[in-house]
Amino acid sequence: MSVRVRYAPSPTGLQHIGGVRTALFNYLFARSQGGTFILRIEDTDRERFRQDALEDLFDTMDWLGLSWDEGPITGGSCEPYVQSQRIDLYTEYAGKLVETGNAYPCYCTPERLSALRAQQEQNKSAFVGYDRHCRDLDPTDAPGGVKPVIRLKVPLDGETAFTDLLMGTITRANRDISPDPVLLKSDGFPTYHLANVVDDHLMGITHILRAQEWIPSGPLHVLLYRAFGWEAPKYCHLPMVMGHDGQKLSKRHGSTSVQEFREQGYVPEAMVNYISLLGWSWDGEREFFTREELEKLFTLEKINKAPGVFDYKKLEWFNGHYIRQKSTKELKDLIIPFLERDGVIASPPSPEEQEMVDRMIPIVRERLHLLKDVSDMTRFLFQDVALPPASEIIPKKCDAAVTADILAHAAALLEDMDTADDEVLESRFRAKADELGVKLGAMLMPVRSAVTGSKVSPPLFESLRLLGKQRVLLRMQRALDVMTSEARK
Ligand code: GLU
Ligand code: ZN
Repeated sequence: MSVRVRYAPSPTGLQHIGGVRTALFNYLFARSQGGTFILRIEDTDRERFRQDALEDLFDTMDWLGLSWDEGPITGGSCEPYVQSQRIDLYTEYAGKLVETGNAYPCYCTPERLSALRAQQEQNKSAFVGYDRHCRDLDPTDAPGGVKPVIRLKVPLDGETAFTDLLMGTITRANRDISPDPVLLKSDGFPTYHLANVVDDHLMGITHILRAQEWIPSGPLHVLLYRAFGWEAPKYCHLPMVMGHDGQKLSKRHGSTSVQEFREQGYVPEAMVNYISLLGWSWDGEREFFTREELEKLFTLEKINKAPGVFDYKKLEWFNGHYIRQKSTKELKDLIIPFLERDGVIASPPSPEEQEMVDRMIPIVRERLHLLKDVSDMTRFLFQDVALPPASEIIPKKCDAAVTADILAHAAALLEDMDTADDEVLESRFRAKADELGVKLGAMLMPVRSAVTGSKVSPPLFESLRLLGKQRVLLRMQRALDVMTSEARK
């Protein structure tokens, strides 16, 4: 039987690492098995539904390249399944359960239910929840004019178990399962449990890969499958994703929504590769995998029981790796939006700016971990930068007078900077540093600060050449003037 899996998000918030990990594992499992990957939008909770969350879901799937194979209108790029468009179906299936005596209408008013809850709380009652008041109600006693909810008859005794491919057998006493949960609300909308089970069955889902937080729903879902007389899919609850402190990954640890990662300039290749390792490994050693490799190699057998630890530094390192693989054209298309966003270049860029971007790519490529860093790294190439405070121009163990001297000598050494090799320039600076009795670093730092406005920049001589001698010397002269007047104080 061919594998059929689904990602079934509820659009109530932005896509986060945990959700995307579930989506990715389902996608990769389907691809590696030549199976089918389905996207199903579980939007029946109309109070928590958010339109922006739905848009973010599509953006994220698109950005990560997680394409699904099937939907209500199949062929080409298909629509996903959307539960709110399938309401009649859930009503029909809830009706079937009532007919077979596995479910029943409950007419209790919200007032009765909240009074019941208050009473249970007050008595510190061991039993909390619905008291099954309508479970054995004679249909002729049903109050008129009240639209009932439909509840599942959960057996009072015994236990329900299911096998999880990763966790083994999970058993729950039936009395600990929610007492007769609602399947269909009085507004005709299904609850998560009903819609989820009906759809997994109708869509022929063979394996359910989802986060461990859904384990508690497992026994209830198994009861539902049984009530319908259906066979349940195989379950594989995925290990937790944690922060470095062993707590569930959350805002406290850093960014969690995919949108935030995108804004910082992570590339999808790095995200897909890194997220694939959150709870899965190939041989415990190898870390870099292309998408094509993952689509071949992914197996359920290699999912770990232990939680995946989300390491921000490592993801950044992966990102640098994938940035370095980009061609000039690809990297250009990736960084221009960041330069525009940060006001470094015009939007759209002028021809001169375009040309500068082309020229600078080889030297930023090696140093870039996050695309967003390109703005601070290269602003000096596009704009006149403010001179940093004197403390950032004057090297250690030097004063303003010495720094002025360094700048004056450096300017002379740079006379033929456009044509001289890096090695030639460097040995020249080194010789001059010896002569002045300072370190090479002390010789270069004032030049870097004066020209780029920052202590860090791409490799210095290449940066200077990109900017051009005229502007380099002008900025150095400006710093020299400041140092000279400082020295006089
Ligand atoms: N709609 C549920 C969610 O938001 C689906 C859980 C499941 O995969 O069964 O994650
Ligand atoms: Zn009732």
